Amino acid sequence: MSDSTHYEVVIIGSGPAGYTAALYAARADLSPLMLMGSQPGGQLTITTDVENYPGFPDGIMGPILMDHFREQAARFGTELVYKTAMGVDFAKRPFSVDAEGTTYTADAVILSTGASARLLGMESETRLMGHGVSACATCDGFFFRDKELVVVGGGDSAMEEATFLTKFASKVNIVHRRDEFRGSKIMVARARDHAKIDFITPAVVEEILSPNGELEVSGVRLKDPDTGQTWEKECQGVFMAIGHVPNTQMFKDVLDMDENGYLITAPDSTATNIPGIFACGDAQDHVYRQAVTAAGTGCMAAIEAERFLAH
Ligand code: NAP
Repeated sequence: MSDSTHYEVVIIGSGPAGYTAALYAARADLSPLMLMGSQPGGQLTITTDVENYPGFPDGIMGPILMDHFREQAARFGTELVYKTAMGVDFAKRPFSVDAEGTTYTADAVILSTGASARLLGMESETRLMGHGVSACATCDGFFFRDKELVVVGGGDSAMEEATFLTKFASKVNIVHRRDEFRGSKIMVARARDHAKIDFITPAVVEEILSPNGELEVSGVRLKDPDTGQTWEKECQGVFMAIGHVPNTQMFKDVLDMDENGYLITAPDSTATNIPGIFACGDAQDHVYRQAVTAAGTGCMAAIEAERFLAH
């Protein structure tokens, strides 16, 4: 444990990108500090089987994989602090990061704040969140034993969540706004072949219904985007799986970002528009968004931070 709050490198966020950056920075003798954030381990801690992380031919559970990442980063001297960064000052040097009452200063900062579930943005969705509406099948699936569910989305997350939810639910309906799917062929085929999964396409959720305004879900009102026709579908739970938004609100007006909030980095680099601030993982990558690519950009960020500090 350092007795000061100044570090050569502070890493914000503890998913595959942050841990890999920490591993490399620690092995470069930079004794980094990692602010773990509100969901230590990141998005993989709320998934089940990870089948596409190289090195695990039989797959590995997401939370276990992240435990391995953490142990490996800690083994080489990363200081792990279970706090969430709340604000930054990158206008002066050393940079500073506020985290729940403590201000840390740093010569270089690596941003690996990841992404969070995107929501549809309806009042009924907000009101019923945690009362039949969820954005995490692995967290909440257990509460829906023998219930009929709707999963919204057409990507790999929707396919994976729907397949996982069949362990509990009597039936799962995948509602997607198009007839084509963004999800990979193998994941879509697995869902299509499942006896408990039905597809409703093209359809958008117009409203989540609850009986007399109570805090429970009784169905959804769906709309065919082509014809405008609406109808109601009974269900007891709704799972949102419509992608993610980068956790970069804290850097608005501080760092360059695109219109969707992804941090912009120089080509073939993790350098942001402020020298000494590096961005990696899902906060910066809107193309691949895989654990393995996040780890790759985390490695890049640490190597670039090391070179920046050496100069
Ligand atoms: P995604 O690939 O971006 O898919 C999001 C889906 O939600 C799309 O089908 C999109 O429809 C739909 N959508 C977005 N906004 C919507 C809205 N407002 N209303 C209705 N539908 C909306 O996101 P993801 O499925 O979370 O996957 C993200 C990344 O993680 C991908 O690279 C994926 O391959 C990866 N992933 C991999 C695995 C795995 O391999 N095991 C598991 C999960 C995720 P449109 O298609 O019409 O845009």
